[in-house]
Amino acid sequence: MEDCIFCKIVSGEMPCHKLYEDHRVIALLDIFPTTKGHTLLVQKEHEQDVLHSSEENAQALLTTARSLAPTIMKTVHATDINVIFNVGANAGQTIFHTHMHIIPRYAGDGLETWPQGETDHEAFKKLAEEIKGNV
Ligand code: 5GP
Ligand code: ZN
Repeated sequence: MEDCIFCKIVSGEMPCHKLYEDHRVIALLDIFPTTKGHTLLVQKEHEQDVLHSSEENAQALLTTARSLAPTIMKTVHATDINVIFNVGANAGQTIFHTHMHIIPRYAGDGLETWPQGETDHEAFKKLAEEIKGNV
């Protein structure tokens, strides 16, 4: 798609530090890494986010993550990883072409995880019913 950075990377119009490629996915280093080894798995087809991706493309991202992540971790000596999809601008998505983040984590890396809220079983019960009612 015109003006899409990831389409330009997929087509070769823009350079990247590529780690892996197959017919559905390319893996490349994030240009502004959160931690050393921060990798993006970008699907080749332009779809706006993982909820709009075909089942096959979404599966291919997960399959690639599962095979490539251990190699990344071994290479950068990371103990753990976060695997993240941002979906929508309020969730931090800035490039609207489906991609998965693999973010290596290290002991004492100082990154915060999600803040935790209050437990409210009454509210959870109502909410769970509401969501199930909408399935
Ligand atoms: P999002 O915020 O949409 O989930 O993630 C987009 C990611 O793409 C960001 O982590 C950002 O650092 C990365 N990024 C933005 N522009 C480029 C680029 O030109 N090349 C590469 N390799 N990564 C990019
Ligand atoms: Zn695109």
